[in-house]
Amino acid sequence: MKNVRNISIIAHIDHGKTTLSDRILEITGAIEPRKMRAQYLDSMDIERERGITIKSHPLRVFYKSKKDGQIYEINIVDTPGHVDFTYEVDRSLAAVEGAILLVDATQGVQAQTVANTYKAVEHNLEIIPVINKIDLPNANITETELEIEDLIGIPGDEIYKISAKEGTGVEELLEAIIEKIPAPSGKDEDKLKALIFDAKYDKYRGVIVYVRIFDGSVKSGDKIMTFSNKQTYEVVEVGAFTPEMKKVDSLNAGDIGYIIAGMKEVSMAKIGDTITSAKDPTKEPLPGYKEVKPMVYAGMYPGIPEYYEELRKALEKLKLNDSALVFNPDHSPALGFGFRCGFLGLLHMDVVKERLEREFEMAVILTAPNVEYKVVLKNGEELLINDPAKFPSESEIQEVYEPYVKLSIITPPEYLGKLMNLVQNEKRGTMISTENAGFERVVLNFEVPLAEIIFDFFDRMKALSRGYASMDYELIGYRKSDLVKVTILVNKEPVEALSMIAHKDKAYTMARKLVDKLAELIPQHQFEIPIQAKAGGRIIARSTVKALRKDVLAKCYGGDVTRKMKLLEKQKEGKKKLREIGRVSIPQEAFLALLKVG
Ligand code: GDP
Repeated sequence: MKNVRNISIIAHIDHGKTTLSDRILEITGAIEPRKMRAQYLDSMDIERERGITIKSHPLRVFYKSKKDGQIYEINIVDTPGHVDFTYEVDRSLAAVEGAILLVDATQGVQAQTVANTYKAVEHNLEIIPVINKIDLPNANITETELEIEDLIGIPGDEIYKISAKEGTGVEELLEAIIEKIPAPSGKDEDKLKALIFDAKYDKYRGVIVYVRIFDGSVKSGDKIMTFSNKQTYEVVEVGAFTPEMKKVDSLNAGDIGYIIAGMKEVSMAKIGDTITSAKDPTKEPLPGYKEVKPMVYAGMYPGIPEYYEELRKALEKLKLNDSALVFNPDHSPALGFGFRCGFLGLLHMDVVKERLEREFEMAVILTAPNVEYKVVLKNGEELLINDPAKFPSESEIQEVYEPYVKLSIITPPEYLGKLMNLVQNEKRGTMISTENAGFERVVLNFEVPLAEIIFDFFDRMKALSRGYASMDYELIGYRKSDLVKVTILVNKEPVEALSMIAHKDKAYTMARKLVDKLAELIPQHQFEIPIQAKAGGRIIARSTVKALRKDVLAKCYGGDVTRKMKLLEKQKEGKKKLREIGRVSIPQEAFLALLKVG
């Protein structure tokens, strides 16, 4: 048996994952805590601010057991904490044999932790429950014990109690990891099978592939192959995370580490794919590989039209490090040249937008996101449409299909009624089954159109369940649906960037809300501006922006010249933020108004 243990820490944000990792590094003498912090915590600011960790480095430490005096290698893999990244969580958990379920004694079990714990159970991981922050005066250990017991059925006296901050109980936890988590079972002599569970792009070294070796071994100079597309590469370096990347001679069965093999962008190292030997490949890849596809699409335009080229360069750079981002050149009469982009979900879209702002100083205009529809034309042609502007006219269409997902919601039973009402009555969902999960939790399974859950669904679910429900979804395919395109006309001119695809039953209400919202957002002009929504050749809703009566300059009586100048300058600046459509200026936020009416 190997002296290796591979684990993941499942924790809600702020429950102490980082502090515990720090303490483990300190106890095992991997690195001084101060130096380490800067290193280990190099994850993106955006993640910290939003209370999510998308990805951070794995860790490898060596620990000498007090019980048997032997030295053990312990690898700790991180799991992202947001529903957009469920597949990455799944693959990180597939890379380990055990998980620490870390719960803050002052907060108790949080919804986000529950979904990941169930995933860990699905993967047959050995779970070690841990209550953290027992040093705090308001620690509520007994209640937290009960919650953990409900969740995974482990009795209170078998739950570890620690203070990650003060170090209390952390050595006992390390001993428990060695004792309870099974050692990896692969063999060095077998054909190479390594699971890609993450990948990062480095400016100088190219793509760094994070792997778990299940069978076989790999060293520099080896020829490897990615199983999904049979591409081959020569290994330049293999190493471990200490937490800095440290070169090692070889990675063997059971190890977690990195491979550098001349890959140019992260999309070459697909998460979930199997790396094997190019000369002596395995016949069977590791189970669970899935091609990650964008779920939602939106138009992205440079805030200043001349910056198109710069935006393209910025997106290309982001793409090196973000294989889930997809973009293609696009043109909109209202917004000029830009891109049609594909994202994993709304959070992913926000992260991309913010990274463009922070890392590239690019302010962008995004249009409301939508899903990808399948349209069968009367002439038999089949089209995939991810831009409402390109939706064929009603007379050409035979049938329309939209993507459906299987949606699972985990909730305490008291919110069940409200959540069922939300999904079934407002979001066109159908209930498939319910299961009891633990003492105080129910799993609700639905089939729902993807389009219904990309807008405000997550927030609504959280609000209705006081933060307790959590969700997970996976694509199950396309279903025929009664969909129409709603075109928005501003001052009688169609503005395609504002159009949307809606279900017939909801088109009227959504159009009504959208025109009202737009009327609020579009500033008054010297003339009256009608805002209309058109579907199936008819106007189905209308709102008006009243004409502005007073001339701004009239207030100045022509007297104070400097004041007049300032006012003009201000107007100019304000205009920059508006888009001229015909004679009407439309503010940027109007293009996202649709998000508020879903
Ligand atoms: P993460 O978001 O799960 O990585 O959480 P952190 O490790 O960043 O911890 C969040 C906050 O809780 C920080 O202010 C830590 O100092 C604090 N913290 C973590 N563990 C303990 C503990 O055992 N006791 C106390 N009192 N505070 C802790």
